[in-house]
Amino acid sequence: MSARKWFRSRAPWIALTVVLLVSIGSAAAWHVRRVDPRPLLFSDLLVNIEKGTVAELVVSGDQLDVKTSDGTAYRTTAPANYVSANPAFLADLARKNVRIDVRGSAADAAYGYGALAIGLTFIVMVGLALYRVTSGRIPALDGKTREADPESSPITFDDVAGVDEAKEEVKEIVDFLREPSRFSAIGGRIPKGVLLVGPPGTGKTLLARSIAGEAKVPFLFTSGSDFVEMYAGVGASRIRRLFKDARRHPACIIFIDELDAVGRSRGGNSLSHEEREQTLNQLLVEMDGFSPNQGIVVIAATNRPDILDPALLRPGRFDRQVTVGAPDVKGREQILRIHAKKVALDAEVDLRQIARGTPGFSGADLANLMNEAALLAVRAGRSTITGNDLDQARDKVLMGVERRSLQMTEHERVTCAYHESGHAVVAALLPHADPLHKVTIVPRGRALGVTMQLPEGDRHTHTREFLEAQIAILMGGRIAEELFLRQMTSGAGNDIERATDIARRMVCEFGMSPALGPLAYRTPGNPWETDRGVGISEATAQRVDEEVRDLVMRGYETARQIIAKHRGAVRAMAEELLTVESLDSDGIKAIIASNLSDQQKTA
Ligand code: ADP
Repeated sequence: MSARKWFRSRAPWIALTVVLLVSIGSAAAWHVRRVDPRPLLFSDLLVNIEKGTVAELVVSGDQLDVKTSDGTAYRTTAPANYVSANPAFLADLARKNVRIDVRGSAADAAYGYGALAIGLTFIVMVGLALYRVTSGRIPALDGKTREADPESSPITFDDVAGVDEAKEEVKEIVDFLREPSRFSAIGGRIPKGVLLVGPPGTGKTLLARSIAGEAKVPFLFTSGSDFVEMYAGVGASRIRRLFKDARRHPACIIFIDELDAVGRSRGGNSLSHEEREQTLNQLLVEMDGFSPNQGIVVIAATNRPDILDPALLRPGRFDRQVTVGAPDVKGREQILRIHAKKVALDAEVDLRQIARGTPGFSGADLANLMNEAALLAVRAGRSTITGNDLDQARDKVLMGVERRSLQMTEHERVTCAYHESGHAVVAALLPHADPLHKVTIVPRGRALGVTMQLPEGDRHTHTREFLEAQIAILMGGRIAEELFLRQMTSGAGNDIERATDIARRMVCEFGMSPALGPLAYRTPGNPWETDRGVGISEATAQRVDEEVRDLVMRGYETARQIIAKHRGAVRAMAEELLTVESLDSDGIKAIIASNLSDQQKTA
């Protein structure tokens, strides 16, 4: 559990402890400082008693508070046990008409406050421990399940775009939630659980909320990762509580985000496995426990349905799967329209154009794009968002924030310019590569420079040629540095990693290596966490490694030949980058074209 989560889940207790300690502390301080008398020598007190100027004496153990007849307050300390050992002392005072009061010793009071603080801290700590053991069944302090009231923030189907099929599929759930009795009269069975499957940011949460909004029922929101706790039984009891909460409503939606966090296939023997298993079992028990017509629908979201425990997908549980995919160009336009309503957009802006220029963007990316553009417009002091703001925002979403403040040495700038030109020239000249969108040597995010390609339309699959071109492009940076600057730098590290990953997936997942054939190979470098694919022998592992290396080296060779042949283009582009810092697709095309015509002239 992260420190932040730990803190958040215990925030009420921590706040309570702090408040208690502060109030005890201030009470103690007040007690001590309440009378702030001047110090007095004990001998002076005796002299004053003799003189008869003492009007009042308060004895607190050995501490004596004195008030003189003119009203001044003093404090002095008597020798240890002086007062109790000298009964004559008080008797003498009484005779002199001094008003006397005797209280518990001041040290006792300080002890009292100390003990109170320790006691209360102890109580809070025991409370905290109990809270853990009872797994947060203290209703007011349990922040795990969040409930959204449909009346307060109505989200409807109109707020979700680009996922028409998914909306169509969940419509009958809305009908059911509106009138459960109608369904039970006919005897129809509504799914208890619906699994929304899709990549992050495509609007799964939003869709679930819109179902609740359309049906006007409460929406209980929780995340699978909230159930994964270190202590056994905590997750399970949270599940129990969640369903108990749900049963209080005549109809409602339970939404579990990141179901895969609890729903992973069972098996394995580590401790956390055991806890997860308990949680998962509890979820299954609860889902079996309510009748289909009770008005509860459990909606869960995941982007890894393949790793879910099969028991979750059986009839009566999450037996309906709805795919919420990345939006296509039309969907992106609609999503942009929804988010454009919340901002002031210039009349000139063509959202269809923006949708076309953002293939691969999810709904969340597009919402982010619109927000970034609005921020840019505000920063520039404009009252509406222009197309240029949107372009800049897109680059920011695509490539990360510009870091103009990063100081690069001149040599680093030159290295970066050649490196990016290497990528760009290879990309520009390989027929199967995506068109270039931008090359820049302004540091962005963690990169010193960026070469950005953008597919013309939506891509759903990749051809072997495309992947090979991708590897060659990634190699282009290193090669340009080698050929022009006679150096190797760590800057190519990430390129190399990505190229190797592509090659490995081509061999192990996509069956694109002729030597190894169309098999799925399970290897240590493979990101799969499940048991899919065939396990491999040592001999095959060696061949996999050879094939991967071969693919990368072939890409390297392709790139080397292109750069060697088009040295002029790389040099021209690097020099241009060093003066203008960024080139867009037209600028890149111009440099490549002029270089090609130069080559033809000399040939
Ligand atoms: P997921 O749950 O799939 O990860 P979310 O539903 O949390 O994605 O989406 C995050 C935000 O992105 C939403 O609040 C919304 O602003 C925006 N968004 C995502 N998908 C869509 C969509 N299909 N239509 C409109 N907005 C969307």
